[in-house]
Amino acid sequence: MPTLISGTAVAEKVLAECKAEIAAFKARGITPGLAVVLIGDDPASRAYVRSKDKKCKDLGLHSVKHELPTTTTQAELIALVKQLNADPAIHGILVQSPPPKHIDEAEIVRTIDPAKDVDGFHPVNVAKLALEDPTGFVPCTPLGCQRLLIDAGIETAGAHAVVIGRSMIVGKPMALLLMAKGPGGDATVTVTHSRTRDLGSITRQADIIIAAIGRPEFLKAEHVKEGAVVIDVGINRVEAPGTEKGYKLVGDVAFDEVAPKCRAITPVPGGVGPMTIALLMQNTLKACRQIVPRLSQA
Ligand code: NAD
Repeated sequence: MPTLISGTAVAEKVLAECKAEIAAFKARGITPGLAVVLIGDDPASRAYVRSKDKKCKDLGLHSVKHELPTTTTQAELIALVKQLNADPAIHGILVQSPPPKHIDEAEIVRTIDPAKDVDGFHPVNVAKLALEDPTGFVPCTPLGCQRLLIDAGIETAGAHAVVIGRSMIVGKPMALLLMAKGPGGDATVTVTHSRTRDLGSITRQADIIIAAIGRPEFLKAEHVKEGAVVIDVGINRVEAPGTEKGYKLVGDVAFDEVAPKCRAITPVPGGVGPMTIALLMQNTLKACRQIVPRLSQA
């Protein structure tokens, strides 16, 4: 049987590290603060924002939640982001994606102070990741995947890692992290996507597969070689008649047929999902650590 890499357990560890750092900040009279902005009433986004806010409060972070109507204009949103940029009680800013169609998301991201961009989407932070500049912010989900590999003792150096998906949120930053020098990096990375020909011929060469496709149970046993490590980023709702909610969550990997071939694999739920929020807390503390000395010198 493969090793089940528990994101729930590793996330608890990350949050315990965060708690210790928050206590140290508080002893200095500083409370790290995160502002989360939600525009519209998309139920999934609402659920994410609520859980981020709750996690902040549980940890004793200063948490501000701005829930704005769908009719919010670009100018109003820009004004709010600028206000949060200037607020000394706020160290991290996150604008929940995707915003309504009339909002130019790229302009909003560019307006966030890169020093408070805990999602790691600002062009400055994208560049810092490519440059391997440790002062930058890396998107939370791929950072969480890397931490899972490190904690599970999976050797990435020299391994062939195949990333499926090229989104700015998961696939691209994941590839950059895996190819960077250092722990959880130094891999030989192949990035595949919707235009890739004969996906299986590539994924079957992989020692490590990161699946971020957004299609329920897409990756089958035939795509995976014996002894591979599989990190399943996917979160997909599929109908489950007869269950209380009427749906269940499945990953991008057909777990039941893939797991028996693997050396290690993440489950869904309880894999990458809990890591994303834990790494958001970690990024917020990093922002606070970097901003506070800057303020005290001002
Ligand atoms: P996306 O739709 O932006 O990107 C999907 C990628 O999959 C694209 O780059 C596309 O080229 C690739 N793809 C599509 N069909 C393919 C095919 N047939 N073969 C190879 N590649 C193919 O999605 P995303 O935002 O990167 O998210 C991917 C998945 O991860 C989704 O299930 C999403 O819900 C999940 N996700 C989870 C978390 C978390 O916290 N666990 C965070 C972000 C995203």
